[in-house]
Amino acid sequence: MSVSYRPATFDELLDLMSEKELIPFAGGTDLMVQNAAAGGPKFAGDVVFIAHLPELKGIRLEGDKLIIGASATLSHIENYPQVPQLLKNAVSLIAAPALRNRGTMGGNICNASPAGDSIPPLYVLGASFKLQSRDGVRVIKADEFFKGPGKTDRRKNEILVEIIVPLKEWNIEKYRKVGTRAANALTKCSITAAAKVKNGRIDDLSIAFGAVGPVIIRDKNLEKKLIGLTTSDLKARADAILKDYSALIVPIDDQRSTAVYRKQVCLNLLREFLEVDLGQ
Ligand SMILES: Cc1cc2nc3c(=O)[nH]c(=O)nc-3n(C[C@H](O)[C@H](O)[C@H](O)COP(=O)(O)OP(=O)(O)OC[C@H]3O[C@@H](n4cnc5c(N)ncnc54)[C@H](O)[C@@H]3O)c2cc1C
Repeated sequence: MSVSYRPATFDELLDLMSEKELIPFAGGTDLMVQNAAAGGPKFAGDVVFIAHLPELKGIRLEGDKLIIGASATLSHIENYPQVPQLLKNAVSLIAAPALRNRGTMGGNICNASPAGDSIPPLYVLGASFKLQSRDGVRVIKADEFFKGPGKTDRRKNEILVEIIVPLKEWNIEKYRKVGTRAANALTKCSITAAAKVKNGRIDDLSIAFGAVGPVIIRDKNLEKKLIGLTTSDLKARADAILKDYSALIVPIDDQRSTAVYRKQVCLNLLREFLEVDLGQ
């Protein structure tokens, strides 16, 4: 039977994580489902509760960055005024209110599902993650953290402490989650896209797709090729751009949807972004 720990302080948590191999337990909304068993959950190892520690819970502004504690609940994030709208849109469509009162962004990130809904906006916004252990602090970019479904760069003794979100200005934003219904819908696929358009020209651009590959799909080289073009250029080149993205979008068939549907919907949403949203 697994043992559970409840450290009184963040320092104690770091000590425990350096002494033992523990499973951090934040809201438990992924862990309780993954480890469900008759008579109560059966975890693969010992568990450490982290949701009560104040160092992990706050949200604050630091210059031109928003710092979100890993154990900030999804509801807290959804209602915090300075959270970028793209991230709010994605978080507010996760599950349903009761679950968002308990689930955390740290949990959504460390669970590392390619369908984790908070993750594509974090790629687009250029977010980084602060990880801490008794060995020190590391900051790693969101797009370098994920290694595959359920796999991240987090070391066993590390805790995800904060999510650092640069507050950039975009004037065109798009977030669409495609699911079976409005609430409690697992994502079939999603697009998150943002652009800064100045005098009809693309000054900055970022596009990510969720649930259509082993990790979130974002290609900075493809984006670079589009920066500097006019919105009419983009419209004219939409077919070629879609072809490039088509090679990157590699969904699978599963109980939620089919690969063919997911890919086509992503390409349709991308076309809408290029031809309609950017033209506004
Ligand atoms: C009914 C239902 C509907 C759902 N709908 C959605 C949905 O629409 N979209 C979506 O994206 N998800 C959905 N989820 C999944 C889940 O609710 C979210 O991923 C949630 O954000 C997980 O947060 P948590 O705090 O509950 O994570 P937990 O279950 O506590 O932890 C998840 C994983 O992260 C690790 N972890 C947590 N915090 C840290 C930390 N600070 N440092 C290191 N490791 C950590 C844990 O060890 C575990 O491996 C749904 C779940 C349910 C049950």
